[in-house]
Order: sequence, then C-alpha cells, then structure tokens
Amino acid sequence: MEKNDINLCDACKALLGKKRHTPPHKYLIQTNFLEVKSQFCNVDEYFYTCRTCSKTWLLEKGTYGQGWVYN
Ligand SMILES: [Zn+2]
Repeated sequence: MEKNDINLCDACKALLGKKRHTPPHKYLIQTNFLEVKSQFCNVDEYFYTCRTCSKTWLLEKGTYGQGWVYN
C-alpha cells in the first residue's frame, strides 16, 4: 500500500489504522451496507464516501472486523 500517494483530508487521515469502535467522521456519507455471515465469522461491512476528499472507506465490524480500511 502506498498511503503517502493518496490525497486524504485531515478527517480521513485521522481514520487511518483505526479499529472498528471508531465512529465515522462527520464528512463521511454511508453508501452501502453488507452483512457477511458464515459459520465461523460474522462481519458487517459499512461503505462510506468522504464529501471532502471523495475517498471511499470500508468499515468492518463484527467478530473479525478489521476496522477502517480504505479502498
Ligand atoms: Zn476525506
């Protein structure tokens, strides 16, 4: 990953590396929601787009959720 090449706004920069308990910042708009269920893992995926820098984010919640991942 080349994080340095991406033009993130300050609010999005603050989300880098954050875990699933961190709420979305105020410029994020939720665009989609996906519930992934399997026998061993249960992940809720929330998709967001930033109004400021147009960055798209995936927030993985649930037992094995990774937290904030940018696309
Ligand atoms: Zn942003």
